[in-house]
Order: sequence, then C-alpha cells, then structure tokens
Amino acid sequence: MPRPIRAVISQQAMSHNLSVIRQYLDNARQAPAAAAHGAQATSPGATHIWAVIKANAYGHGLETAIGGFAQADGLAMLDLQETLRARQAGWQGPLLMLEGFFEARDVPELVRNRVVSSIHHPEQIRMLQASTLAAPLDVFLKINTGMNRLGFAPQQFGEAYQALQALQQHGKVGRIGFMTHFADADGAHGAVDAPAQVFHDTVGQCQGSISLCNSAAVLRYPQLAVSAADNWVRPGICLYGSSPFANTTGEEFGLRQTMTLQARLLSIQHIKQGQSVGYGSTYTAARDMRIGVVACGYADGYPRSAPSGTPAWVNGVATQLAGRVSMDMLTIDLDPVPDAVVGDWVTLWGNEGPHIDEVASAAGTIAYELLCALAQRVPVHVEYSGEVVEK
Ligand SMILES: *Cc1c(COP(=O)(O)O)cnc(C)c1O
Repeated sequence: MPRPIRAVISQQAMSHNLSVIRQYLDNARQAPAAAAHGAQATSPGATHIWAVIKANAYGHGLETAIGGFAQADGLAMLDLQETLRARQAGWQGPLLMLEGFFEARDVPELVRNRVVSSIHHPEQIRMLQASTLAAPLDVFLKINTGMNRLGFAPQQFGEAYQALQALQQHGKVGRIGFMTHFADADGAHGAVDAPAQVFHDTVGQCQGSISLCNSAAVLRYPQLAVSAADNWVRPGICLYGSSPFANTTGEEFGLRQTMTLQARLLSIQHIKQGQSVGYGSTYTAARDMRIGVVACGYADGYPRSAPSGTPAWVNGVATQLAGRVSMDMLTIDLDPVPDAVVGDWVTLWGNEGPHIDEVASAAGTIAYELLCALAQRVPVHVEYSGEVVEK
C-alpha cells in the first residue's frame, strides 16, 4: 500500500498554458509598435516556442511534459539523456541543449539525434574542431549580455562567430543562431533594455535565428519576441502555471497550475491551550484546538522552510501549517475544518488548494524550487481531460 500522498499532473493545463503564451506572442505581433517596426512585413512567420523541460520538466516528468507540450515548436533541456528520451517518446521536432555539450564525445550523439546546441565557451568550439561528424551540428551562439554566467562577451563574439563559420565551411556546423539570457527580466521594468541592446548591437547584421526570452521576458516584454529575424522564445516556469514575478501568481496571467500536491490526514490531535506541536515546539496553541497530521514532509519535497501560517487546504477549506515541517509529516490547524476526519485529502498546493506561488512565497522561495524538488517517492498521477492515470 503506497503512502497516502500524490502529485496530480495535468497535461491539459500544460497545453492550456502553452496556448496562453502563444496568445501573448500573437498579441505582441499584432500590436501597432511591432507593425511600425516592420515585424509583420518582414517576419517569416510566427515566433517559435521552445518549451523548456529541463530538470525532469520542472519535476513533472519528461514524458508527461512532452505529451502536454505536443504543440510546442521545440523542446529545450540540459541533458543529453533528456534529448534521447524525448526522441524515444516520439518527439520529432527540434531539441535544444541550453548549455550545449559538455564533452567532445557527446557531439556525434547530438548530431545523430538532430539536437541543436548552444555554444557558450571557446572550449566547445575546440571540441567541435577536433570532432568528426556525420552531419553538421546546428548551433545557437550564446552572448553574455550581463548575466555573467554563460556566453561570449560582446568583444569575443567576432572571433567565436568566425570560428563557427569556418566550421560551417568544413561541414561540421549547420545553421548558426544567436541567443542570450536575461538576469533581470523579472526585475524592474526596463531592466532588459540594456542587455537587449547589447545583444542586437553584437549580432549586428549577422543572419540567423535569435532567442532571448524566458518566461518573465515573454510575459513582460513580448515585443522582444517579435522581430524580423526568426525568433525563438524559451519559456519554462509559466508553462507549469507559475508566475516568474514576486508577489504574483500564475493565475494573474491566465495560467493554470500543472501540479497539485496532496496528502491525507494520518492523525488528528486534540491539544490544550499552551501545548506545542512538532520539533522544536515552534508552535504553541493559543486555545484548545485540533491539529491535523498530514502524510507529507520535506523528504517528499515540501519545503522545511515553510513556517506556521503557510496555507494548506482541507476539503476545499483554507487553513494553515501549525508547527515545523518534519521529514515525513507536517501539521495543520484543523479548527477551520471541523468536519475533517482521518483519511481526508489535504491539498498542499495546486488546484483546489493554495497556489504554489503563495506557498513558495511563504517558504521564502520560488515555485521553481518546489516543483523541481518533488521527491521520487511521491506517486505521480497524470490527468488528461479529467481522466487520472496512475503511473
Ligand atoms: C531555464 C532556462 C529558461 C527558462 O526559464 P524560465 O524562467 O523557467 O522561463 C530559459 N532559458 C535558459 C537558458 C534557461 O536555462
């Protein structure tokens, strides 16, 4: 008998979110500002969406996400193994390795699987120069526009681009695109203006696809995704229903949550005023009250940093954590839910529960971290069109 905990994943919500993002892009394309810049006149077509499915699709399961994002133009990930699994799952479309390859022996594998590779470092160019390939590798040359994590500085761009063009001549490199990643797309308004300018100045007249926008940039600066060049956006978190911005939830953007985490009540304690609950006795009852013990702890991926007061729902009623989260259990105030009994489901985040963005915020983190942390031991149920399939 499995522990009474489950993550319910909705593929329907995934495809809904993808169409919401597509709508944002279509709206930007039709905006007068975009038209004034000649986007519609010169653009070869719609902006393309790489659905980002790194980190086991933000904890949702790779194959499930591939089904949910069947209408995406491409899938972006970090791991060679993930690209192989995507092909095995029947995905025929483009695949992007966001950090490119890590070892020379991976390059022929990428070519065999028709994977596009980011190129962010001269070492990767050296590996390409040293490799023998059956077909050319399509690449996105990554420019560091201020994140200072990966990518070529603008002054290194010319040399890197020339080296890739030489490799193109030798049939080792196919199409060359250009990408960057913003440090502050979720920050102050206008924080991407300078890096976007650096990007465009650096790429200059070079012809090729471009890729700039993560979720925050797609939602806040969709005009950056509308350009004369073939433009590929790279949304991740918004496709899973969460907001990339502090103090907002995905709902404000019309996004639906894709993961609901639930566990049953294992036990109910009646405690007296002045008694405390859990490790460290951090919560002390201000009155006689009922405490619900829930079959979910930090070993399931629920954040230990979530303090008393973090929202949780029982039978559709909002209540909150009372006491410290432990490895396998957490405790909640049952006073708002007098009819709750052992065996009832408690929703820790997701549909008919608190929004994961609210839980993340209460725990001092972001939904990305909660989603990715979902533990292997939590049984996953995949839902499509209201049907639940146990995995
Ligand atoms: C993870 C990642 C993304 C997606 O970011 P979100 O904030 O989840 O939209 C996009 N681009 C790169 C390079 C990434 O590493």
